[in-house]
Amino acid sequence: MGDEERQREAILAAAEAVADRLEAEKEHLTDLDSAIGDADHGSNLTRGFRAAADAVDGDTDSTPEELVKKIGVTLISKVGGASGPLYGGSIMSASQTLEDGLTAETSVAFAEAYLEKVQDRGNAHLGAKTMVDALTPAVHTYKKSIEVDELPPLTALAKATTAAERGVEFTVPLRAQKGRASFLGWRSVGHQDPGATSTWFIMQELLDVADEYLEGETDVDARSPTIPDETPEGGES
Ligand code: ADP
Ligand code: MG
Repeated sequence: MGDEERQREAILAAAEAVADRLEAEKEHLTDLDSAIGDADHGSNLTRGFRAAADAVDGDTDSTPEELVKKIGVTLISKVGGASGPLYGGSIMSASQTLEDGLTAETSVAFAEAYLEKVQDRGNAHLGAKTMVDALTPAVHTYKKSIEVDELPPLTALAKATTAAERGVEFTVPLRAQKGRASFLGWRSVGHQDPGATSTWFIMQELLDVADEYLEGETDVDARSPTIPDETPEGGES
């Protein structure tokens, strides 16, 4: 993605866009977390990502790797709960893959490293009703789109974002097996996972920023309507 200056601008724009989006979704995420958790996911993430955006704001010296690392480190210090170390620690570790800057190749390496770290730290397998359920199909779709189908990164990211959305839907009928939601056992069934949802929102913002900083058009509508967290009685999902 262009020279280092442009990559830096894209990373700062992404940090800002994610912070704004999570702020806008704060209540939504809180509602999801109050159904199967402790109602803090919205405030956790809003606080953390705003601090992360502020931490890198105006930085004209750091490399892309250093900027992403700074975002991770700030998240670790500002986000409480399960999601702080999962988001922050994994972003921090995965930042090492950006040593040579932000390219199609390093972005795949980043995505894979991020997923691996989330799984290492949280020990949640696919289907445990966590952020892993949105992240896994997204990362696999992104990697395959770039490495096998040889699609442009923007198209790959659009497809990955759609895969994350399906992953979010997939969490609804599952019984939670990790985190606070697991304390509810079968009562967690029928609710959308907050962490999977925030992962999807973040990806939508990354896609929007990539659309601005990369040449070309997406062939997938990334702004599909938000999935309702409950199916209305007698209604269609
Ligand atoms: P807490 O559960 O500590 O209040 P948050 O509310 O901020 O933290 O985050 C809850 C989200 O974290 C869940 O919706 C789920 O997606 C994610 N999560 C919880 N435990 C794990 C885990 N072990 N592995 C992956 N994700 C997890
Ligand atoms: Mg919570």
